[in-house]
Amino acid sequence: MPRRVSIFGATGSIGQNTIDLIRRERERFEIIALTGGANVSQLTADARELGAQVAVTAHEDKLADLREALAGSGIEAAAGEAALVEAAERSADWVMSAIVGAAGLLPGMTALQHGTTLALANKESLVTAGPLLMAEAKTHGATILPVDSEHSAVFQALVGEDMAAVERIIITASGGAFRDWPLESLASATLAEASSHPNWDMGQRITIDSASMFNKSLEMIETKEYFGVEASQIEVVVHPESLIHAMVGFNDGAIMAHVGPPDMRHAIGYALNWPERRELPVNRLDLVQIGQLNFRAPDEARWPALRLAREVMETGGLAGAAFNAAKERALDGFIAGKIGFLAMAEVVEEVLARISAETGLSSAQITLDNVREMDHLARQRAEEVIGAS
Ligand code: NDP
Repeated sequence: MPRRVSIFGATGSIGQNTIDLIRRERERFEIIALTGGANVSQLTADARELGAQVAVTAHEDKLADLREALAGSGIEAAAGEAALVEAAERSADWVMSAIVGAAGLLPGMTALQHGTTLALANKESLVTAGPLLMAEAKTHGATILPVDSEHSAVFQALVGEDMAAVERIIITASGGAFRDWPLESLASATLAEASSHPNWDMGQRITIDSASMFNKSLEMIETKEYFGVEASQIEVVVHPESLIHAMVGFNDGAIMAHVGPPDMRHAIGYALNWPERRELPVNRLDLVQIGQLNFRAPDEARWPALRLAREVMETGGLAGAAFNAAKERALDGFIAGKIGFLAMAEVVEEVLARISAETGLSSAQITLDNVREMDHLARQRAEEVIGAS
């Protein structure tokens, strides 16, 4: 029986890599839903090629274009948030959650509530509503498979292991575009400079988040929520080669490291084939040619996002939702040229300070509604801070 698959965020970097893998073994998969945002032509081309049941654009004003492009294909066209949720309710065996930003939470949560295996690339889901997401998965007997390369690496290093024996989880960071820049130059870093990554080919937003280490800060929180460890057990190490993605340190002093090429098709393919391991079209590493691997401590003056992530983990509750929303707005501000590169962390820190009294809740008190309210509030506060800067 082919595996019934839906891809949320199909037109993005993760979505396209997922489609690349599916295309290579077409007969193993039946495509239920593909979703995108503004890129209707990519969505249409993929839906037609893969024979999807339904194609959904997040933007209601694109529905007419989508309908016209799919005319005669027999593929349903739909648009908007409710249509994304409806697509997530359709029976599937495996759903890829690869929408960028907090918008990915609701479709992913809906898939889990239907007991579907969720391949989770959308890191914002765990950052904003980790306890809720993990509880829903448990209640509905659904599996969450991490797709972020670091978390896929930890997941693989933990196969057959007992979490009680885990002392620490070490996630690596390339250091992004500005790893070796003089600190004093960072304030004037341009959008183009921040949008180029030394090792990984990813969407623009996550590439900029890599340069600021907001990406790593989200991953620290994701690690805590997904693997259920304490913040003090999570370490970040700068590893410029991006070949070791993560390591798990055990109570006998052993460290299990996951080593692989910087190609997202590895983590996506692992999740797509899980629990099997199948051949993947990624480069094989030549360790002799690589010669050496380097590691250094992350400099928190260069990357204040790492310190902010620790504060967010200490606070818990809705702090992750506030942190992510403020970060998304600050990133919008940087992309729009309203604030400088370093000001992104200043905006987030200021927003967290302004709403600190409202973020501290116990995990059990987190609901989809209060996550969304906090997301809204933090975005408003971020706009105010950006406006006043
Ligand atoms: P991209 O920006 O490349 O793609 C994002 C996808 O989401 C596109 O399909 C886009 O549609 C769609 N989208 C954008 N806004 C909305 C919205 N408001 N509602 C619904 N859909 C929307 O992102 P990436 O593929 O790089 O990243 C996706 C997720 O995976 C992110 O959470 C990221 O942090 C995470 N991730 C990415 C990695 C990578 O290598 N790229 C690695 C690990 C995690 P359209 O393009 O048509 O507008």
